Amino acid sequence: MKIAVLRELAEGETRVAATPETVAKFKGLGAEVAVESGAGALARIPDADYAAAGAVVGNATATVTGADIVLTVRRPRVASLNGVNPGALVIGAMDPYGNEAEIAALAKAGVTAIAMEFMPRITRAQVMDILSSQANLAGYQAVIDAAQVFDRAMPMMMTAAGTVRPAKVFVMGAGVAGLQAIATARRLGAVVTATDVRAAAGEQVESLGAKFIMTEALKDASGTGGYARELTRDEQAAQAELVAGHIAKQDIVITTALIPGRPAPKLVSRAMVESMAPGSVIVDLAAERGGNVELTQPGKVATTANGVTILGYTNVPGRLATSASQLYARNLNSFLETLVDKKEKVLAVNWDDELVKATVLTRDGAIVHPNIKLDAVAAAPAPAAKPAGPPAKTAPVTKTATVAPKVETPATTVPAGPVKTAAPAKKAPARKPAAPKTAPAAEVPAKVPAKRPAKPAATAEAKPAPARKTAAKKPAPKGTT
Ligand code: NAD
Repeated sequence: MKIAVLRELAEGETRVAATPETVAKFKGLGAEVAVESGAGALARIPDADYAAAGAVVGNATATVTGADIVLTVRRPRVASLNGVNPGALVIGAMDPYGNEAEIAALAKAGVTAIAMEFMPRITRAQVMDILSSQANLAGYQAVIDAAQVFDRAMPMMMTAAGTVRPAKVFVMGAGVAGLQAIATARRLGAVVTATDVRAAAGEQVESLGAKFIMTEALKDASGTGGYARELTRDEQAAQAELVAGHIAKQDIVITTALIPGRPAPKLVSRAMVESMAPGSVIVDLAAERGGNVELTQPGKVATTANGVTILGYTNVPGRLATSASQLYARNLNSFLETLVDKKEKVLAVNWDDELVKATVLTRDGAIVHPNIKLDAVAAAPAPAAKPAGPPAKTAPVTKTATVAPKVETPATTVPAGPVKTAAPAKKAPARKPAAPKTAPAAEVPAKVPAKRPAKPAATAEAKPAPARKTAAKKPAPKGTT
């Protein structure tokens, strides 16, 4: 049984699908483990640590050749899988919706593609839930990112020179990411309010010391499996009225609202953004699904004419690559353990297991998942020779710049005009700080510190996107806990 771990090729992907900790566990299961050289570099895991854990570190071809299992963060290119054993399991976030042609190509290549984001949200599978582990980290990072560009203090400061009021943080969507954002903002001393369309979220919000606000017109919009349903027009109008009145008084707004299988609901209009004071910050964690904010530009940081900075990062968990990789790798390891006969130390997939049935997309040359429709495959473009990556979308605001998972540049300049945009800082493979790019006019505050120096792989427990894809939750979770 050979397990291969490839270096991620998707632009901006910093995470890795296995850590030395999980490599050691795979060895314990009797597996031979091969890791592509540099696979952990962006998550600060040196090749030597993988080797010390028992992996063979080599080039991509050597790593993948003869593999029975390939572990990835994002869906790999078919070309990257040349040489795997027939029927090899390819396990990762497959991002299948809208990418049906790529899934069909994996089927044609004869591999068994397994979508971890389809893991049912049942008690037994909680430890394998990549959506939760990554969303949790994203919620935390959203607050850290907001604090970094916010020009004021988060907690109340009582000094000899007087008192500084605490920042007001408003979290929209109190699911996994939202609750972690609330907890983090509270820890930093902010005054936090939150809203959700599920009434059950209210108690959780209050238990974290935040105030829950919800319109009277909207009693409860809980859907199935603990998720929200789409609002009716009247409900949307009532929610918009509530938000419009509240948002103008907020310093930081963090949006996390998603509805399974639908584009992110638009909750914050241009007018609402324009009502906010200069220096306010919005973090749109739904950016990868189109955004909750009308002015969000996915993958970009923009500042509006009235001085509101909107962060539209699309791979927020990737901004915490080490922690995100640790948790993601553990999610994968927990699932893998269910696929192996531990006594005989061989791969022994129970194709009737509900976890396997829910996650297997392709098998024996065909698409086997009921949610991946063949007509969608026919309508989809031909398989691109590129890995899955954050979508490049255009938003209605003007000048922009793509941002890397964690900005590493010093002070940069941005275009003048109604929208200021932070300069891009693409993550260099060896994690050297990217050279600052310069654009004409208006300066962006130099609030982005250089990356910390390289460190050995950490093994401590951390607290989650994919990059998080709502659509990936289509298979109705059973028995949500
Ligand atoms: P999600 O990412 O799909 O959505 C995030 C939040 O946005 C949800 O709370 C949703 O209600 C909210 N939302 C949707 N439309 C909105 C709108 N118009 N305005 C405001 N908010 C809106 O959801 P999630 O964070 O993955 O989790 C949702 C629920 O599932 C939570 O109750 C969570 O506790 C539960 N959950 C259960 C398990 C498990 O049992 N294993 C695992 C993870 C999450």
